[in-house]
Amino acid sequence: MGSIDSPQTTRLPSPHNPPLKAIVIGAGLGGCAAAIALHHHGHEVITVLDKVRQFGRLGDSLGLGENAYKLLERWGCNLNEVKAIGNQSPTMNIRRWRDGKILVEQELIDMAGYIGHRGDYHDIFLKWVTERGIPIRMGCEVVSYDDVEPMPSITLKSGEKLSADIIIACDGIKSLARILVLGQRDDPISSGYACFRAFFKPTLDLKENPLCNSFLKQDSVNIWIGPDMHLIQNTLRNGEEFNWILTHKDDGDVPESWFQPGDMEEVRKLVSDVDPSIREVVKATTACLDWKICYRKPLPTWVSAKSHRIALLGDSCHGHLPTSAQGASQACESAGVLATCLSLVDRDDVKIATRAYEKLRFPRTRQSQTNGEDLRDRWHNVLKNVENEIEIDPESVKIKNRWLYAFDSEEDARARWREIEDIVRDEFRSGKINPLC
Ligand SMILES: Cc1cc2nc3c(=O)[nH]c(=O)nc-3n(C[C@H](O)[C@H](O)[C@H](O)COP(=O)(O)OP(=O)(O)OC[C@H]3O[C@@H](n4cnc5c(N)ncnc54)[C@H](O)[C@@H]3O)c2cc1C
Repeated sequence: MGSIDSPQTTRLPSPHNPPLKAIVIGAGLGGCAAAIALHHHGHEVITVLDKVRQFGRLGDSLGLGENAYKLLERWGCNLNEVKAIGNQSPTMNIRRWRDGKILVEQELIDMAGYIGHRGDYHDIFLKWVTERGIPIRMGCEVVSYDDVEPMPSITLKSGEKLSADIIIACDGIKSLARILVLGQRDDPISSGYACFRAFFKPTLDLKENPLCNSFLKQDSVNIWIGPDMHLIQNTLRNGEEFNWILTHKDDGDVPESWFQPGDMEEVRKLVSDVDPSIREVVKATTACLDWKICYRKPLPTWVSAKSHRIALLGDSCHGHLPTSAQGASQACESAGVLATCLSLVDRDDVKIATRAYEKLRFPRTRQSQTNGEDLRDRWHNVLKNVENEIEIDPESVKIKNRWLYAFDSEEDARARWREIEDIVRDEFRSGKINPLC
């Protein structure tokens, strides 16, 4: 990838006079990407709002693929900042659960692109937003939406009301805006799996314990696969930080939460027969989180029914399984497409842009979501009823994300614009917006 200019020099002039005004709800990676993309395309982001008062270094491993990187770079973001803090290992190994035999070695880029700590990536995204002069207001919870033409509005918990030409709801997997857009709640559906996750700085004792230290010395990624389970290890900062994620069958009723404490006794039982070289360090972990992996059915629409000016983006409309390793990257792609579509319409035609956006994005995000389901199923099934000495076809366990990286979502939006615009205008003329699925 080539060098980049400072954020200001890459900004495109607004195609509208005055520029379209946008409010972004949610300052997660999706909301930050939306704000940066809109700014790059010349639109005015009045504010990015988040209900949280202060962000912590939350989560653990998150990947950013080249499909996201090429957009961020175009928008003037200094990628070296994220590359420097990501996992520096060139390769990763996919191993057999019981004995750690390497089934395949792949380039790390094939997994999730660049893997780093979500909190660190988030800090950098927030900085990129701030250095563009876009205000981020913390402690501002949106409690209701008013879906009216020509300026939809939101009400904050404080009672304050704000309106804009377009409201972009990047409010995550438990989105309030999604209820408005769908006209009903859509409660989570269990995927039948949950993840135990831990992220910690290994103590000197652990590092020096020969039973524990195999993967604590330098950046590395290893994945142990077995029947209905897999365990991912990610060591960052040259051994300073260590993370494991154990995906397992879930028959409990853990609530859908990023913060639910996990039961280390259950973890120790689940890893009792895993490769000893990783088992002991997992068993020695003092605390973990329990994430229920929930699905939402694909949404029939991402855009509000009345004004067509409230649009969902990121996890609020296309949540991904961890095995997709594309949640944040797809949010970046969506941000680029929405900002591009807004630049291709007249000021009064925001509804054409939002309806084109959902049509352009839906099939691609479904492909990326199902890619992750396919990988999980391959990993969880390939060793079922297979004797230890049987050779496994390496292709059957490989992570196949590389094809996702070649895509340029903004280029795709421009290339298909006329075709999609015609469909959208026909739908408005006929008074019937066809559902996405
Ligand atoms: C705490 C946390 C930890 C995570 N850890 C990981 C991880 O380790 N690995 C991984 O792959 N993915 C993780 N994710 C998910 C990952 O960040 C997302 O899949 C991806 O970045 C796309 O995010 P998003 O911006 O669409 O949604 P999110 O990252 O969920 O961001 C949504 C934001 O909206 C805000 N918000 C929600 N409702 C309102 C409201 N009513 N008013 C105002 N603000 C609101 C939230 O506070 C949040 O900051 C995590 C998400 C969270 C929230």
